[in-house]
Amino acid sequence: MPDQNSHIYETISRLASDMGFGDFGCARAGRMDTDAQHYGKALAQGRFAGMTYLEKNLEKRFDPRLLVEGAKTVLCFLAPYGNPVIDIPTANQSPSVSAASGISFPMPLKIASYAWGRDYHKIIKDKLHILLKKMQETVPGTKGRVFVDSAPVLERAWAVRAGLGFIGKNNFLISRKCGIRNFIGIIITDLELPCSRTEEKNYCGNCTRCLTECPSGALCAPFTLDARKCVSYQTIESKLPAGSEPVRIFRDGWYFGCDACMNACPWNRKNIPGWAEFHTHTNLLSRADGLWWEHLSQESFAERFRDSPLQRAGLEKIRDSVRSCLEQKDLYV
Ligand code: SF4
Ligand code: SF4
Repeated sequence: MPDQNSHIYETISRLASDMGFGDFGCARAGRMDTDAQHYGKALAQGRFAGMTYLEKNLEKRFDPRLLVEGAKTVLCFLAPYGNPVIDIPTANQSPSVSAASGISFPMPLKIASYAWGRDYHKIIKDKLHILLKKMQETVPGTKGRVFVDSAPVLERAWAVRAGLGFIGKNNFLISRKCGIRNFIGIIITDLELPCSRTEEKNYCGNCTRCLTECPSGALCAPFTLDARKCVSYQTIESKLPAGSEPVRIFRDGWYFGCDACMNACPWNRKNIPGWAEFHTHTNLLSRADGLWWEHLSQESFAERFRDSPLQRAGLEKIRDSVRSCLEQKDLYV
């Protein structure tokens, strides 16, 4: 490997830190045979539910050299979105939004914390493009592509290979440096960069809090998610209204996504402050109760949340999910 490539690594590392990324590492590009086996098993068991896009581009998903010709390195970046003050879980408490005004509802309606701000795809991609451009200026002709949760890339598996953390029993990447609330950004390039960090072992120990806290039984065993039962899947990805889902589940007040298995995790104590862009709607959403959602017009939804992850579900599905949660209020203890 040319000497200058170590310098590029150092430059990217410094720039990424300056941009606010919590951690950065590289992995050697190659086919992910073990991950392909696990993925194939989940697919065969129907655990991806109706997310048919996960059945496409399988070979590209397992081998980054099919996404970037001659790929040698997968660069992985952690973009924090948590808040270290409110994200430390306590017993039977979810650090989400409170929204019970005007409704006799003993538990708050809740929305996943990744959706409290602007859509993360563009925000992170913009920064990764700057880093890729820096690499291309240093070594003209360098090929590369950036990915943020929108193409067939196994981001978490790559982050593990890059030495950034381990996969918890809740299937999230857990970083001992910056906790559990991090988006993962990826650059695949044909530039050969140092991959010096080793993979970490699992640090869950005897803990099973995430399995206990899952309201629907979707986290059916350590490291094993059945999306058909997952609140996050049913409230965002599923095309069906709540009443038509083949599996009716207890949603525990979560109406867009679900953080229960994340909130339960003691590694939240390692979270670092999330980027301001990921908290732009927190105040508004903290006041959004059932009545507010019922009275929100399509125009107002489009205007207020035009660059929000909430667009993925859309207003009608969100309303349906809010109603579903409210119908289940008698199930709360
Ligand atoms: S997101 Fe919610 S429903 Fe899905 S596995 Fe985690 S705790 Fe269970
Ligand atoms: S809650 Fe416990 S078992 Fe689950 S991922 Fe966190 S440390 Fe691991």
